[in-house]
Amino acid sequence: MSENTTITVAYGDGIGPEIMSATLDIIKAAGAMIDIEVIEIGEKVYLKGIAEGIEPSSWQSLLKTKVFLKAPITTPQGGGFKSLNVATRKTLGLYANVRPCVSYHPYIETKHPVMDVVIMRENEEDLYAGIEYRQTDQVMQGLKLITSPGSEKIIRYAFEYARSNGRKKVTCFMKDNIMKITDGLFHKLYDKIGEEYPGIEKETWIVDIGAAKLATSPESFDVIVMENLYGDILSDVTAQMTGSVGLAGSANIGDKCAMFEAIHGSAPRRAGQNLANPSGLLLGAVMMLAHINQSEIASKVHNAWLKTLEDGVHTYDIYRDGISKKKVGTKQFSGAVIERLGKKPETLKTVNYKDFDVKTYPHYDYRNITPAKKELTGVDIFLHWREGSAKELGEKLKNISVEGLKLTGISNRGVKIWPGGLEETFCVDHWRCRFEGNAVTFDMIISQLEKFKNEGYDFIKTENLYTFDGEKGYSA
Ligand code: NAD
Repeated sequence: MSENTTITVAYGDGIGPEIMSATLDIIKAAGAMIDIEVIEIGEKVYLKGIAEGIEPSSWQSLLKTKVFLKAPITTPQGGGFKSLNVATRKTLGLYANVRPCVSYHPYIETKHPVMDVVIMRENEEDLYAGIEYRQTDQVMQGLKLITSPGSEKIIRYAFEYARSNGRKKVTCFMKDNIMKITDGLFHKLYDKIGEEYPGIEKETWIVDIGAAKLATSPESFDVIVMENLYGDILSDVTAQMTGSVGLAGSANIGDKCAMFEAIHGSAPRRAGQNLANPSGLLLGAVMMLAHINQSEIASKVHNAWLKTLEDGVHTYDIYRDGISKKKVGTKQFSGAVIERLGKKPETLKTVNYKDFDVKTYPHYDYRNITPAKKELTGVDIFLHWREGSAKELGEKLKNISVEGLKLTGISNRGVKIWPGGLEETFCVDHWRCRFEGNAVTFDMIISQLEKFKNEGYDFIKTENLYTFDGEKGYSA
């Protein structure tokens, strides 16, 4: 029986096929024990009219092998196409996106010679739920969904990763001074889960100033855990700070499956010219080898790659006169890494992977958690309205409350404008009208909507107001 692990491989678009061939050549030469199933994804599949960019049959391979090495793809411009990356991460439950960003000073030019940061990005939630609406002529809405199981999983993964990889600190970036409920939950769970890891230093930053500090003093960070959108943006910034976005790999880890890729895209302008740097995908493949318990081969490849960088053999994106020795194309670069298999870097830090099993720690079972005492205390009714001023709307609406509900406030773009608003506040055609009461029922809310309908108001959405164990579950 073969000891090989079967993996699914997609060559992708743009520079994808070139960097995938280079990566596979290197890891095979290093002795990777893998069998490969190739699937087609990306542009060609989209253009066949498959909105997800992947053939239904390809899922069978992924569900069987559970390990996916994926080159970047091009998402065609225009509506109707769904992001394959988002779909794959969500369908396979790949909740943790691990993006190590390391400086290779003095061999690769960077403003930050001391830098070894792992961006730990939540991978399934946040604005990437992709639930968006046009609500009025002027207003579009995207839902930011942050869940307790989703946040717990990524935060716990960050601490577990830190512990098993000898990392000292896990920092959390969020913005709970503004998003008190969503980012507030992420922060609270970080504090709570962090208590279980006394040996690891903890630190929180509001994401804006945290990002500024990261951009100027990356040496003060180690592992940084954050929600999906912040992680998407900041991992590109952090990778670029090391010298090139082409240098960073990424692991997408779930309980059952995992996907490995470069963090960059398909760079279509560089495609087919033997120019692209395969390093990002190669380092993704190295993490894959550690994941499938071939850590010795992972270390062998990574160290040969470091030696190649040290020897000044560089692709165009990292080539600098005076620092680099030889400018090479994709194929020559992979050849240079293959020649150095078995060698170790002389000054850069040698890498020594351990096999790591990401499935060994339990999550809370949220299905068994006692539900909070939930009480309905009112409703926000959103109107599409442009017939007058905030004051006029307030005066009209206060007279149409049903029994048991009282209009307590109207806001526009989150600013309270009735009662007592200012004329100066700029208003759009989207009004949030809050009705509150005691012992509120669904029937009262339905009667209130009936009243709006009869008075000719265009209500575009409602949001029920609940307390959970007495604590307000909505913003003030
Ligand atoms: P990109 O990452 O493809 O390119 C950004 C810049 O970095 C370009 O100047 C490019 O030449 C350079 N670059 C990227 N990778 C490189 C490498 N390996 N070697 C040398 N230079 C490299 O980002 P983009 O131009 O915004 O996107 C191009 C396409 O990629 C789009 O269709 C986008 O949707 C897609 N994309 C795919 C993924 C993915 O599949 N995971 C991720 C991001 C973007």
